[in-house]
Amino acid sequence: MDELLQPLIDGDRRALSRAITLVESTRPDHRARAVALIAALPDRQALRIGLSGTPGVGKSTFIEAFGTMLTGQGLRVAVLAVDPSSARSGGSILGDKTRMEMLSRNPMAFIRPTPSSAQLGGVARRTRETIRLCEAAGYDVVLIETVGVGQSETLVAEMCDLFTLLLAPAGGDELQGVKRGIMEMADLILVNKADGDLLATARRTVADYAGALRLLRKRPQDPEGFPKALPVSAATGEGLDKAWAEMQALIEWRRAHGHFDATRAAQARHWFEAELRAGLLARLDQPRARAEIQRLGEAVAAGALAPGAAASELLDWLGHAEEACTGT
Ligand code: GDP
Repeated sequence: MDELLQPLIDGDRRALSRAITLVESTRPDHRARAVALIAALPDRQALRIGLSGTPGVGKSTFIEAFGTMLTGQGLRVAVLAVDPSSARSGGSILGDKTRMEMLSRNPMAFIRPTPSSAQLGGVARRTRETIRLCEAAGYDVVLIETVGVGQSETLVAEMCDLFTLLLAPAGGDELQGVKRGIMEMADLILVNKADGDLLATARRTVADYAGALRLLRKRPQDPEGFPKALPVSAATGEGLDKAWAEMQALIEWRRAHGHFDATRAAQARHWFEAELRAGLLARLDQPRARAEIQRLGEAVAAGALAPGAAASELLDWLGHAEEACTGT
């Protein structure tokens, strides 16, 4: 049994941190250990909440206030970030240590920034595995935060029980250029900064989005009235309790109607297929495979071999190379 497993299950934060560092590693021996550790985790469940929003919309302020509210109710909260910008620039928007200062000092909360120099595919694996580690460590709610760029929203939506979109109040009739596809993923749209001078605009924005959401095709996993748009203020805390109540009502309904388990099952299957693809691609990237690809590629280019035949030959070769390695 892995030495990290028991302390992790007992809620030891250092063990959790070390386990996350392990799943973030790409070293083959670390990977093997991580896979075994993940497989041995007890089947504890947390509520997995995805939170997306463009920079400046108030994600950190929201998580700080929302997380603090939940810990005040006796819930343990873990916060993870999926930040594709760190993959491109090497710097992380969401990894800034000064964010969520109160929550980061809260013993009921655990915050883990995105590691820099990760690729989106790597981020997906690391986040899925980290969610499982947090669940096993006894966290009740796992918040997965992402900036609204690229494919990170789809990625996060695919690992959550509930996907929340945080938006700013907007004047005019333009729906802030929120793409239809992203609206379709949202279970809750929270219009933040519904306070002070922005209150009236925020209320109008909520009405606009509520109207837009009603036009979307009804999804089987939604009770009447969902997806929903609500005003919140992360700064004053106004509306956060209502948002939490709506989240709970939605999840309760999905549990009662079998959608919660069905979605998790589909996500697990998706995870398996993603791992399989990643594993195959990694195998293709080995020196011997690369040499074989080079050789076959040249034959194809010279017209000596049809592309399909070359691909078949390589796949056969991969199968045999594997047998040679494992001695079967
Ligand atoms: P993030 O980039 O999405 O994490 O956004 P931040 O949480 O850093 O917030 C961006 C700015 O919006 C900061 O200046 C916050 O103080 C401000 N802000 C966040 N939430 C609210 C809110 O509910 N009301 C108001 N008025 N300002 C807010």
